Amino acid sequence: MTAPLFKVLLRELPTHRHIEVDGAFVASSLVGMPMREALEAPPDDANAGKGVVDLDLYADETTVFANGSIKGELRVACGRCVGPATIVIDEKLRVTYVPGTDDPAAIAAIEAEVEAGDSDGLELEEDDLELFHYDGETIDLEPLIREQFVLAVPYAPLCREDCKGLCAQCGADLNTAPCACESPIDPRFAALKGLKLTS
Ligand SMILES: [Zn+2]
Ligand SMILES: [Zn+2]
Repeated sequence: MTAPLFKVLLRELPTHRHIEVDGAFVASSLVGMPMREALEAPPDDANAGKGVVDLDLYADETTVFANGSIKGELRVACGRCVGPATIVIDEKLRVTYVPGTDDPAAIAAIEAEVEAGDSDGLELEEDDLELFHYDGETIDLEPLIREQFVLAVPYAPLCREDCKGLCAQCGADLNTAPCACESPIDPRFAALKGLKLTS
């Protein structure tokens, strides 16, 4: 697949962008997340997921608005059985870009200011979530799209609603087959019990 066109020049606006991302992109977006690492998949895992992003971008002076949607899926480990769980993504996107920096240190400084602030802090922080920066000439959509995959990972992903999970005693996947510990009484003890009853 050809490299997605993440960068939009201010002078191209207004414009529409259709971006498709593959498994390797999703995998690299989720590096370091425990539910992703638990799958022990290769870093370029083609089965990590995919996404289709459609965005309308337009500028009002130096502020750039991006509206659209992301549809796709990602794969993380099930919180019960550690097998692969596919999470569907179907979200609206509404983001504002303002001139500034995406430098992590600078953003951390802004966030620290917000946190140290008064009761307006929460409100500011909420707005911040949808606020991205561009360097004054080029809007880079890549961080926004990577963030969507990170945000889509649930706290407790499930491979299916009724996943039976792993046996707490032997670790067997109870979705595949019941394990020996599942029978309430070991047959040998049952026999002993039988003896007791008849004696
Ligand atoms: Zn499961
Ligand atoms: Zn067991």
